[in-house]
Amino acid sequence: MAGSLAAAGATVPAVVEAASYTAYAPQAPALLRNPAKLAEGATYGGALLRHGIRLLTRHAVTEAHGTTRVEAVTIARLDKDWRPLPGTARRIPCDALAVGHGLVPQLELATGLGCATLQAPDGTVALELDAAQRTSVPGIWSAGETGGIGGAQLALTEGEIAAHSIAGRPVPAALTRRRARLRAFAGAMAVAHRPGPGWTGWLREETDVCRCEEVPAGRIREAARELGARDARTVKLLTRAGMGWCQGRMCGPAVAALAGEAPAPDRRPLSCPPPRPARSPPAPEAGRTQLPSRNPRSAASGPLWPIRTH
Ligand SMILES: Cc1cc2nc3c(=O)[nH]c(=O)nc-3n(C[C@H](O)[C@H](O)[C@H](O)COP(=O)(O)OP(=O)(O)OC[C@H]3O[C@@H](n4cnc5c(N)ncnc54)[C@H](O)[C@@H]3O)c2cc1C
Repeated sequence: MAGSLAAAGATVPAVVEAASYTAYAPQAPALLRNPAKLAEGATYGGALLRHGIRLLTRHAVTEAHGTTRVEAVTIARLDKDWRPLPGTARRIPCDALAVGHGLVPQLELATGLGCATLQAPDGTVALELDAAQRTSVPGIWSAGETGGIGGAQLALTEGEIAAHSIAGRPVPAALTRRRARLRAFAGAMAVAHRPGPGWTGWLREETDVCRCEEVPAGRIREAARELGARDARTVKLLTRAGMGWCQGRMCGPAVAALAGEAPAPDRRPLSCPPPRPARSPPAPEAGRTQLPSRNPRSAASGPLWPIRTH
């Protein structure tokens, strides 16, 4: 993005990256298996060099300044846990700031149907899939982001594998090898860029964490520290964080981390009519005939929709 902006005439003072590229060193085998990805990375690096853009690794933007628009940011050097090092803060004037906080798979459809999950190398929750892209629920396959963030090529490859499996055909070995190679690269990236726990220290008390309900970090910390909230759900009940339009899809992981909760899948049912206790059909009124139910499952036998409560 920095390279594209510079090519379009923008002045980009810096690219600020919280992770350190030295974290890729132990991942060398995965990188060497993916020369095309290395070439892609070199192209991006070349664009930064050509436009004279500084790349500041193990640094973070810890504050944005301005009244009606951003006018400057404060950046600071980080320790290995992503805590800002005292005395390293400095201000960079700018009129735009682009931020990325990583990608989180959206799993509601699958988890709503009961699919098992695991923790991906970057700390996010992803679906547990077998070699043929099958989830733990018979008849449900999954490909791409839901199995852990890994890029477009991997998503396409996994989609092809799932299609072969659904059609009852053997999965071609070349596809399996390509998936393994691309997953290895995705894993290497995920390990290198896994957020350090110190990021929570960048937040001031008034920093909005839940933007829909405008709940600042201070209220979430108060719920955790003084009211004993240990998970995002309890914080939500106490502060409304995650109760707005996006239902915690944006702030959920941040709220959970502030409450000290380990990453966990969203197990809310997709549509959740309140379960009703089984009850007898109402007695027919005097003088009226009650028609038999056209549905084989009458009201007395329970609700007509599947309800999952986990
Ligand atoms: C900002 C950004 C930059 C990226 N840059 C790169 C890059 O440079 N190179 C790279 O390889 N990858 C990149 N990626 C990642 C890449 O986009 C993904 O890996 C890829 O798109 C994953 O494909 P997918 O099919 O799993 O998911 P998606 O492409 O997200 O497709 C999922 C589709 O399902 C639809 N959907 C969701 N819920 C429902 C529902 N309930 N009912 C019906 N449809 C639904 C969505 O609308 C969407 O169209 C980037 C991602 C982002 C966000």
